[in-house]
Amino acid sequence: MDNTGSPEKPPNVSELPPVDDIPVALRDTPIVNRRYRVKPVVLISGLVGLGAIAFIAGLLIGNPAPKPKVASSPQSSQSSTGSQTPADNLLGHLPYKEAPASELQPIAGGGSFKLRKAAAKKYNAMVAAARADGVILVTISGFRSIAEQQPLFFDVKAERGQDAKERAEVSAPPGYSEHHTGYAVDIGDGNAPATNLNPKFENTAAFKWLQKNAPRFSFEMSFPRDNVQGVNYEPWHWRFVGDTQSLETFYKAKNLVVKSPEPKEGATPASPIKK
Ligand SMILES: [Zn+2]
Repeated sequence: MDNTGSPEKPPNVSELPPVDDIPVALRDTPIVNRRYRVKPVVLISGLVGLGAIAFIAGLLIGNPAPKPKVASSPQSSQSSTGSQTPADNLLGHLPYKEAPASELQPIAGGGSFKLRKAAAKKYNAMVAAARADGVILVTISGFRSIAEQQPLFFDVKAERGQDAKERAEVSAPPGYSEHHTGYAVDIGDGNAPATNLNPKFENTAAFKWLQKNAPRFSFEMSFPRDNVQGVNYEPWHWRFVGDTQSLETFYKAKNLVVKSPEPKEGATPASPIKK
């Protein structure tokens, strides 16, 4: 996928396993699908049953049934309200504005990739710190324009004969990739290029180092395994959340969802839906 921001420097695509080559950012698509997975009647009976249990428990204990706890982590925010997704999503993906060119600057890790200045500074420091620990972080993709996303979505879709929904499960439509923001970066291990853009990246020294140290540089994995958003696991895809603007970029829309009215099922907390 996130294969490459710049056409002249393809990562080791040839060695890549079946993972789609454009694992792009938000794959919330399953959330849309989930709406129809459970039959309404079953759902309602289940909720009524749970509500009754909660009510009785409340009487016995003398306390009201627990209120749904809104998680502080945005990762869990979307599914905390069940099937809701922001109104402006497209096939489950959230819209992102393209970073202005004046805000971008080249980053370390090889290639001609760029990130926004604040993110680039921290990213470069992170690459250097890893290097000092004997770990080689390789940049696979950084900022990507909406125009560059166009062929990654539509041309590949046509080549593979995929319909739009199918394509959206593994790639964000143009305008809907975290890479547009200039805050997201795909990282590989210089000693294990075969794991580039592959879930097996989680077994590399680079990933283990990132897990332990990335927070010190304000980077976080966008889509950890089994994230409550239901987004596919992308251990190579990290985003900067070290200033207000980046926080707003990634958290604001989802926080709006959290603030929406709680489910009408009374006191029954909606159980998180996991993939
Ligand atoms: Zn990515």
